[in-house]
Amino acid sequence: MTDFNAQKVVVSGATRGIGRAITLAFLEHGATVIGIYGGNSASAEAFQTECAAFGEQLQLHQCDVSDSTQVDAFFAKVEEEFDTIDILVNNAGIRRDKLLAMMDMESWQQVIDINLTGTFTMSRKAVLLMLKQKYGRIINITSPVSTMGLAGQTNYGASKAGQIGLTRSLCKETAKKKITVNCVSPGFIGTELIDDLSPEQVKAYKKMVPMRRFGKVEEVADAVLFLASKKASYITGAVLDINGGL
Ligand code: NAP
Repeated sequence: MTDFNAQKVVVSGATRGIGRAITLAFLEHGATVIGIYGGNSASAEAFQTECAAFGEQLQLHQCDVSDSTQVDAFFAKVEEEFDTIDILVNNAGIRRDKLLAMMDMESWQQVIDINLTGTFTMSRKAVLLMLKQKYGRIINITSPVSTMGLAGQTNYGASKAGQIGLTRSLCKETAKKKITVNCVSPGFIGTELIDDLSPEQVKAYKKMVPMRRFGKVEEVADAVLFLASKKASYITGAVLDINGGL
């Protein structure tokens, strides 16, 4: 699709699910990826081993995106080694589903902190680095729940709608500096995030999708690479749906 040679990409949630596919796609297209994972060191080590052939093209760091101190320290290291970055993909995300009336503060707060505040903490630092070269691409992974809603996901839906609001305001701040900010909104994608769904739920959700199947992580990665490419130079503030027509 395009050549990302010599481009530096930060991906959060880089070692599992959708983020893993995004990271692999960037590596295959020549980029250097500085990936972040939350707490699952076993998955991160396995992924690093699997990517051995890419050598120094891949670095992995443990960093909690909801903790601004950790994020600031991460970006200080990135700046020291790479000076600036070209692309940020805010992909890290969690679910803690409960009906609102039963929802404890922790389930509400964790989801908002990681999914929405994490997008803020990461973007704030990335923009400062991108401003140095007056170029950048920020892609936030949101969800159709932001607009459709889903019972049990008031926390998740609010966090994902918040990412779209952040995207639409930030793109206006950075447009003149050639930093675009967009969302990719995947529908149901077969990852560990949704592997707690019962067979009945999977059947019902697949029936909701006009294409009658869940999406593949690679199909999301392709969309992210397009928005991250120089071919997407006049697209900013957009939400690109990858959901089989949902
Ligand atoms: P996943 O397989 O559960 O992977 C989530 C990733 O986020 C993991 O790499 C995890 O790191 C990382 N992460 C979690 N908390 C973090 C934190 N505090 N700091 C840094 N990293 C953290 O999920 P996925 O399905 O790939 O989802 C990726 C994104 O797509 C999420 O934003 C999700 O909301 C969105 N999305 C997913 C679907 C879907 O159907 N799968 C649909 C729409 C949108 P560890 O490995 O260390 O835990």
